[in-house]
Amino acid sequence: MKSLQHKSQLEHNIQHIFTVDVEDWYHGVADEQIRASAEQRLHYGMSILLELLAEFNVKGTFFWLGHAAVENPSIVKQVAEAGHEIGCHGWSHELVYTMSPQRFREETKRARDTIAELAGRPVIAYRAPYFSITSKSLWALEILADLNFQYDSSIFPVRNWRYGIPSYEPHPQEVKTPSGTIYEIPASVRRVFKYNIPVSGGAYFRLYPYSVTRANFRAVEQKGRRVIFYIHPWELDLNHPPVPLNWKERITHYMNRRSTKTKLQRVLQDFSFAPLGEVLEKEIIHNCKRT
Ligand SMILES: [Zn+2]
Repeated sequence: MKSLQHKSQLEHNIQHIFTVDVEDWYHGVADEQIRASAEQRLHYGMSILLELLAEFNVKGTFFWLGHAAVENPSIVKQVAEAGHEIGCHGWSHELVYTMSPQRFREETKRARDTIAELAGRPVIAYRAPYFSITSKSLWALEILADLNFQYDSSIFPVRNWRYGIPSYEPHPQEVKTPSGTIYEIPASVRRVFKYNIPVSGGAYFRLYPYSVTRANFRAVEQKGRRVIFYIHPWELDLNHPPVPLNWKERITHYMNRRSTKTKLQRVLQDFSFAPLGEVLEKEIIHNCKRT
């Protein structure tokens, strides 16, 4: 396995970006009563994920939800000490475009400060719950810049029932706002005919056969781009309780969970990854400024 891994990394030396949206299985459940009485299970998925990343010597960016961080302070510390980058995934896991700018500012600042204190380092990377920076909530980028976030990875250039700006350029870009500059690193897509197909991870990673994911990664590489890969720890926890959800949420949450671990092992074996901040420092900021 070692030589295979070495060979494939030589053949495909583009470093992709590994990200994790760190939330417990219930943080994205709309029903408040379910959330209030839910069993905390973050450690199950996180231990599998951290072990796999250690085995393949991969570091990633962990976007912590404020709620998940205060419920699991020792895991925040463990992730930081393992050398991963620590980012922010908001406080409440509600859609940004349903919030007022004032509420977004208050709860993002609260999440940033809480996570930074638990991790013992500044937090400058942000990803919105449900990729919910859309054309209705682009104002959020200015607030993020004002809160000293240096980069954001919340825009998905696709059409989806819950998120997406289909016309957004699918490559990293510098966004100038009245409060300063922020770098937007959109989630990855593959252009097929006139449509952008999501190739980034999450439910798409579970739903596609691994051969499709691998072909998608190669297609993105051929364009000279990196895949911004994302995963949630609960996708690796096979025993989180079933709760009533609408059919779309059910697919997003439960479908093909049994395949996640094996697919993750294969993608870590076949491709090379780094945290967002490390790649940005090296290259993306330079290229954004040049173009
Ligand atoms: Zn999330």
